[in-house]
Amino acid sequence: MGRLFGTDGVRGLTGLELTPEFALRFGRAIGGFFGPGSRIIVGRDVRAGGDIILSAVVSGLLSEGVKVYNANLIPTPALQYSVKSMGYDGGVMVTASHNPPEYNGIKVIAPDGVEVDKEDEEAIEELYFKGHSSKLEWRSLVEPPETAGGLIDAYVNAIISQVDSESIARRGFKVVVDCANSVGALATPLLLRKLGVKVYSLNCHLDPYFPGREPEPTPSSLLIAASLVMSSGADIGAGHDGDADRAIIVDDKGEIHWGDRTGALLSHYASTKWREMPRRVFTGVSSSIAVEQYLSKHGVEVVWTPVGSVTIARTMVKSGGAIAGFEENGGYMHVPHQYVRDGAMAIALALDMLASLKSKMSDLISALPKYYPVKTKIPMSRGEILCSLEAVKELFSGYRIITIDGVKVLGEDFWILVRPSGTEPVLRIMAEASSREKAENIVNTTRRVLSEKCLGGR
Ligand code: MG
Repeated sequence: MGRLFGTDGVRGLTGLELTPEFALRFGRAIGGFFGPGSRIIVGRDVRAGGDIILSAVVSGLLSEGVKVYNANLIPTPALQYSVKSMGYDGGVMVTASHNPPEYNGIKVIAPDGVEVDKEDEEAIEELYFKGHSSKLEWRSLVEPPETAGGLIDAYVNAIISQVDSESIARRGFKVVVDCANSVGALATPLLLRKLGVKVYSLNCHLDPYFPGREPEPTPSSLLIAASLVMSSGADIGAGHDGDADRAIIVDDKGEIHWGDRTGALLSHYASTKWREMPRRVFTGVSSSIAVEQYLSKHGVEVVWTPVGSVTIARTMVKSGGAIAGFEENGGYMHVPHQYVRDGAMAIALALDMLASLKSKMSDLISALPKYYPVKTKIPMSRGEILCSLEAVKELFSGYRIITIDGVKVLGEDFWILVRPSGTEPVLRIMAEASSREKAENIVNTTRRVLSEKCLGGR
């Protein structure tokens, strides 16, 4: 049986792979999974074809006797919060998250607000490939979908309840928010205004062509946001992805920081504020060892997990608790609020931290160990990948090695991760070291060894 789900939901090219025919059949499978009479809330981001895909999914759900509540345009974390806080049996979000504009996708949410786990994904896939259809009697097919309103207000108020809004308002913060022309625009500027922040909104009009920038927030896609932080004298900037479960932070000097760095600061701060929570964080092996070096100094344990936000969230839920989970791509899970990535929550928590510590973001960031990153990838076959993983273990034997997802080597002043890509036949190599030369040397040595041992000199 093939697989439909990737690391976070189903993704495909709009109109070519992600067609209404696919979505209808997939909607029936989701409906069969949750069962007749279940209450499912659905929503979408701004992407082209989103209303077509959502209508087809809804049609599939209704055909299976599911009661559908339609939130329409909404950030993913707001839909997830609604599922958990309002007791829905599940949710469906039509989004391709950070993928380029020509993609769309579908995320399936469990009753706890987190995307369904691997076993549930497989159960839905099985129903899909079987062509599941309950063929319900006509009398049971009379309930139209209901419009679900007021969800974004409830979500924004839930975030405000997590922070000290008075001390944030007293600081008179200025914040640049880059909404990526998508659904983050419906919640984050509202949240910031309610917190008494002066908001400079960039790309905060909804546009399925994503004219402002690509939907993924990165140091290169947030350059305009960073320059606006500088010219407006803002305290921070923040850039969402297409469904606003991520936020990448820009500091007051216009520097753009990956989410593992800001995640380390936020989770340490949260551990001092929510003292009853376990002093533990979960992060993917693609995060820097700067995270562990900084947090262990402050008595916060770091648990390394395979890459992928659903894995991080599900591992946290099973482990019995944590203060936070995060990824270097800007996904931050503030557990006292919900077990899923939430971009707006991360921005509010950052302001709470700055207000409480009376600090600037650039000063807080400078407390983190400084590392220089090098990233590359090598095309190779499956056999060559297996050989390479063993060769890296051998090359760095004697070092601390984590093998839950590829091979991660942790040194005193460097780390390297080699792992097969989930989407293409390549081996990805990420390394960081205390100097650029050292990082380059480590990657070059690794490449040479792999070439000799596994790639026939290639
Ligand atoms: Mg996303």
